[in-house]
Amino acid sequence: MPKKDEFTPGDSVLLTTKEKQYVGVLMPSPNAENVVLKLKTGYNMVLKKKSITAVKKEKATVIVQEKTKLPSVQHKKELKTIAILHTGGTIASEIDYATGGVVGRFTPEEIIAKYPQLTETANVRSRLLRNMSSEDMRFPHYNILAKEIQKEIKEGVDGIIITHGTDTIAYTSAALAFALEHLPIPVILVGSQRSSDRGSSDAALNLLSAFRFISQSDFGEVGLCMHETSSDESCVLLPATKTRKFHTSRRDAFKTVNARPFARITKEGKITWINQQYHKVDKARKLVVKPFKEDLKVGLLKTHTHMYAKQFEVYSTFQGLVLEGTGMGHLPINTLDKETKEHEKIFKVIQQLAKKIPVVITSQTLFGRINLNVYSPGRVLKEAGVLGDYLDILPETAFIKLAWLLSNYPKTQVAALMHENLRGEITKRSLHEDFL
Ligand code: ASP
Repeated sequence: MPKKDEFTPGDSVLLTTKEKQYVGVLMPSPNAENVVLKLKTGYNMVLKKKSITAVKKEKATVIVQEKTKLPSVQHKKELKTIAILHTGGTIASEIDYATGGVVGRFTPEEIIAKYPQLTETANVRSRLLRNMSSEDMRFPHYNILAKEIQKEIKEGVDGIIITHGTDTIAYTSAALAFALEHLPIPVILVGSQRSSDRGSSDAALNLLSAFRFISQSDFGEVGLCMHETSSDESCVLLPATKTRKFHTSRRDAFKTVNARPFARITKEGKITWINQQYHKVDKARKLVVKPFKEDLKVGLLKTHTHMYAKQFEVYSTFQGLVLEGTGMGHLPINTLDKETKEHEKIFKVIQQLAKKIPVVITSQTLFGRINLNVYSPGRVLKEAGVLGDYLDILPETAFIKLAWLLSNYPKTQVAALMHENLRGEITKRSLHEDFL
């Protein structure tokens, strides 16, 4: 194994393992066992140090960035003020090719240097809260965000942008939609599928579109702003509780489920409304933060064929459970032959769970609505106390909503509130045109 000092962050290297060779820039590694290599594609690759047989220094494979003088920030009275709160993810990850480290360019001056058009649109405030991958988000992070948003609102800003990793951005948008009651101004979450140092990055258009949308509209809710198509033509403003990431890498990965986007923002900055059912900005509205209980245990379990009762038993120590059932809300609970004997046990566990904690059923089809009255297993679940009948709520949103309800309301009110539309998470009618 090569020596420790051969892994200096910032060096361009050729790493050899038994299987393959890799060229890239060494990045700081969070632990001693692994090496993090930034590949030319912009992606980071983690290799076990043990697996590396040789390290060869390469000529710099990337251009060293010139240090630019940062512009000074001038406050323009006639423009709205937007605060950007950064949490990390691809939109925040940019390599400093001079050092190989991930750099934080998060001060207002640095943001303006990177995206100069923003100053034509609004006054910029900017703060780094975390620099984390969004898969690591936990309930306390939602509370931190809600508190920081509250602070900015007290300071009098006109809108807030949260930059966030795309993997769980839709969980956070739902969490904030619930946690921020009587929100007076817009809070728009923005992510990017490709980092801003790549030619194909979607970061700039997503951010600029969110800026333009806040500065030119009276929208006063939580929403997301992401690419509409895989080209750089337009972005869409998506609803906080009815949006999902549907692709690992495409820039137009985010789509609405059982709903439509609010608006389209073209690359020239023109806004066209698609759905005008939204709360308008009202600075007189007094924000109430309803946070998440930080140690709450709520589960989200996807059902599948050949399940075991043990998979459900795990949740007996939890306070709530969302099930992703099949079709209209079914679970493997029918015993029809010797091969399905296990299903008796599964049903017993579900019955016991539903007596103790709220158990909500959603559908893995995502589109459409739960209906527990069409088939008899559905009716049996309903009798056992399983919640969710007639809802068209996304499983992830149901998970967030259930956790938020358990954090803020007595247990006796949770079932009724779960069935009530609080933040646009449930629609009354399913519309034909809301499918793909
Ligand atoms: N894993 C990253 C995250 O969600 C991916 C991204 O930002 O797009 O934080």
